[in-house]
Parts: sequence; C-alpha cells; structure tokens
Amino acid sequence: MESDIKILYELSKIDSEIVKIESLLKKIPQKIKKLQEEKENLIFKLEKTSNELKRLEKLKREKEIEIQEQEDRIQKIQQNLDRVKTNEEYKALLREKAHIEEVIMDIEDEILQILEEQEVLQKEKEEIEKQIEVEKNKIDEVIKKEEEKLKELQEKLKNLKNEREKLKEKLPRNLLSKYETVRQARGGIAVALAQDGTCSGCYMIIPPKLYSELIKSEKLFTCPHCGRFLYYEPK
Ligand SMILES: [Zn+2]
Repeated sequence: MESDIKILYELSKIDSEIVKIESLLKKIPQKIKKLQEEKENLIFKLEKTSNELKRLEKLKREKEIEIQEQEDRIQKIQQNLDRVKTNEEYKALLREKAHIEEVIMDIEDEILQILEEQEVLQKEKEEIEKQIEVEKNKIDEVIKKEEEKLKELQEKLKNLKNEREKLKEKLPRNLLSKYETVRQARGGIAVALAQDGTCSGCYMIIPPKLYSELIKSEKLFTCPHCGRFLYYEPK
C-alpha cells in the first residue's frame, strides 16, 4: 500500500501539471484571435486600397466629362466666332476661349495626378494580394495547429482531473483539506521534495534530526519553515 505522503506527492505533481495546462489553455484562444486579426487586417488593407482605387477611377471619369463639357463650349465659341459682327465681341469670345483652354489644361493636370496615384495604389494592391496569398495559408495553418493543441490539452486536462479524483479517494478527508490549505497558502505547491537536507519548496535547511527521520520513515512531516509536506524520494 502506498503511503499518504507518496499519494500527496503524486497529487501535487498532478496539480502542478493541471495549473500549467490551464494557463496554456488560456493563452491559446488569445493566440488564435491575434492570428485571425492579422488575417483580417490584411483583408481590410486590401479593401481600403480597392475602394481608394475605385474612388480615383470615378473622379477621373468626372474630370473627363468636365473636359468634354469645356470642349463643347469651345466648339460653340468657335461657331459664334464666325457670326459675330463687332471686333469687341470677337475679342471677348477669344478671351473666353483662352480661359476655357486654361481650365481644360488644369483639369488635364488633375487627371495626370490621378493617374499617378492610381499607378502607385495599383502596385500597392498587387503587393497586398501577394502578401495575402502567402500569409493567409500560413496563418490558417498555424491556427489549425493551435486548435489541435487546444484539443489535445483539453483531453490531457480531463485525464489529469480523473487521476486527481482517484488519488483523492485514497486520502483521508482531513489530510486532503490540510493539503488544500497549504496549497492555497504556498503558491499552489503543498508538497516539497526534501533533497540534500533542504526543502525544495522554500530552500531552507531542514533540521538534521527531522531530515534523518524523513529518510527512514514514510510518515507525514511538514517543513518547519514553509509548512509544506516533505517528501523524500528514495534513490
Ligand atoms: Zn520549506
């Protein structure tokens, strides 16, 4: 039959493992969320660039229509130039025509600027698309792995908890409640290995008389410094 201290030691190992797994389990969903956000950011960037390109295309078309309108006006002036009777009227029409030609040139400059912006953005868009093609698969793969890890850890946790229940049944209730009290008071670790005359929980020296008794028997002893149960592992 196993001694109580041996069972307590097994229980404490399982509890440490449970704490470790629970902390890992908490981190995985955060990691997955971050990866999904990375993916969404790339898609968002692409959408933003596409929308900006659409806006520029619409603007360019509007400018082209404006030029067309101004050119129509010039055509009309051209027709009127043949009909005017006075020199003044003629000069006025020529001034108007010159003014419209300037307006057209300004609009053409604006169109050129739009074309340049479009070119830059188009390149950006292609870059993002390439990035998405590479990154998306990579991210999806990492997410899949993390999800598998999550499942694995959940399974492991379930098994550990089952084991824990089985160990608990082997221990007297008052000892269990003392174990829980020490565990809560001592950062989750209630059983410490006694090694080379030292408590591995608080690193203090165990009184030599206590230590020699500990080696000899499997009775329950606690560290006089930290209160943890002391377990001596026979070599
Ligand atoms: Zn101690």
